[in-house]
Amino acid sequence: MAPSNTPATPTARPRKARGEGQWALGHREPLNPNERSKKDDNPLNVRTRIENIYAHGGFSSIDPADLRGRFRWWGLYTQRKAGIDGGRTAVLEPEELEDEYFMLRVRIDGGALNLAQLRTIAQISTEFARDSADITDRQNIQLHWVRIEDVPEIWRRLEAVGLQTTEACGDCPRVVLGSPVAGISVDEVIDGTPAIDEIVERYIGDPAYSNLPRKFKTQISWLADGPYQVNDVSFVGVVHPDHGPGFDLWVGGGLSTNPRLAERLGIWVPLAEIPEVWAGVVSIFRDYGYRRLRHRARLKFLLADWGVEKFREVLEKEYLGRALVDGPAPDLPEKPIDHIGVHKQRDGKNYVGAAPVVGRSSGTQLSRLAEIAERHGSDRVRLTAYQKLLVLDIADDRVESLITDLREIGLEARPSSWRRGTMACTGIEFCKLAIVETKARGEELVARLEERLKDFDADISVHLNGCPNACARTQVADIGLKGQLVMNSHGEQVEGFQIHLGGALGMAKGETAGFGRKLRGLKATAEELPEYVERVARNYLAGRSDGE
Ligand code: SF4
Repeated sequence: MAPSNTPATPTARPRKARGEGQWALGHREPLNPNERSKKDDNPLNVRTRIENIYAHGGFSSIDPADLRGRFRWWGLYTQRKAGIDGGRTAVLEPEELEDEYFMLRVRIDGGALNLAQLRTIAQISTEFARDSADITDRQNIQLHWVRIEDVPEIWRRLEAVGLQTTEACGDCPRVVLGSPVAGISVDEVIDGTPAIDEIVERYIGDPAYSNLPRKFKTQISWLADGPYQVNDVSFVGVVHPDHGPGFDLWVGGGLSTNPRLAERLGIWVPLAEIPEVWAGVVSIFRDYGYRRLRHRARLKFLLADWGVEKFREVLEKEYLGRALVDGPAPDLPEKPIDHIGVHKQRDGKNYVGAAPVVGRSSGTQLSRLAEIAERHGSDRVRLTAYQKLLVLDIADDRVESLITDLREIGLEARPSSWRRGTMACTGIEFCKLAIVETKARGEELVARLEERLKDFDADISVHLNGCPNACARTQVADIGLKGQLVMNSHGEQVEGFQIHLGGALGMAKGETAGFGRKLRGLKATAEELPEYVERVARNYLAGRSDGE
């Protein structure tokens, strides 16, 4: 080849790969304020200061680094100050946005409560939380209006009945989702609850697992009746042709602004080995997870870079010291399973799934629920990952009476499709990141659609989110609503939603699971929303094929 006259480009000096803050690669130096705060003091240590100092000194005595950082490890977030509109969310300083009251998240692993636990939460709600109690889409209960002075007494009462707020929020292993019908379902082959219990017992509150790059979400359930594809780790039941029943391992799911579905590692895990394998996955996240930028710190980013083969290899070689068993894919349901209505248990009794509206409950309602359940011979209530609840162990001849009594306290076992399929995140009422109102708007939406589309008979999910964070799983709803400010017809900025249509989870073998299409131009003001949803529903009814 003839020599070129073009001056040679100077050979680029090989750039030193920039660390992402992975501990295992030696990038230990804290790289952002959150990492600094966790390094300065393990967040779990803040409990002692809450009990010994802050509960006595009141809100003004709280060190801001604890208030806005470490408190979360004990389920505590400051609430948003009332009256601050969504337009100011991004511009105000944290101290201008926050109230002196707290949201307190009670973790309910597996969503399972006995009546003593339910009554304790109800009592705490009425006594210390202005009767607030929201059922979240991760099987927790959130209380609001909590004062720091009351937190030690609340902990004492919760812990007396086996409940806790430990690591309910923060960069740590959050509540472990389980099937609300674990141990009673006719379709279940193995109950995953022993693995959930062991993980909670061995690892929750252990400082070795309490400083992760970001939050870590888990689900362990034979039935795929939760959002298994959007957790950091999920174990889903599957029967291996040679080894029998066990669990299929999925990793790296998550929603928010960079949604990603979890992927199968192709591994079959027997029930007894779930805690060890779970700890291996969490340890990979702790050691190799990205800590430099918070918006890239979830496990899904590491998995995206590594791929499943490398992830599996590191898990086996570095963390477990042994090969794991290859496993088949589980049979997955064609649509989400919410357990609403009356269903047979394997012991011949029944469970009844009932819907509040958008997860909104109260201490008063929960305490009446406990009375009703007891009167109908039940000691067990379960929460679902769809902001709903179940009453277990009901004899055939008590079912109708239970349904009537639940209806009287605002829990509907035969809800409309709208009430059944609508969820809403906390939103602007209490959340400091919110841009729009969600809960009250969700309630209005359900009421309006029930009135206007009484006979709507299809399954439909409508998820309202107060900001792009997708706590109520925007992208996996039929109609996903992402709160933002939009222009109304007068050119004014008002609360509204960007619309995602056609998200789906839980499709057979995961083949058609996917995210709703974010239609760029498709936005509705909050005022237009009911009409918009009604129009989508009517178009769907007009265009659906037979049997759809
Ligand atoms: Fe708050 Fe946004 Fe999450 Fe809703 S989606 S609870 S507004 S962070």
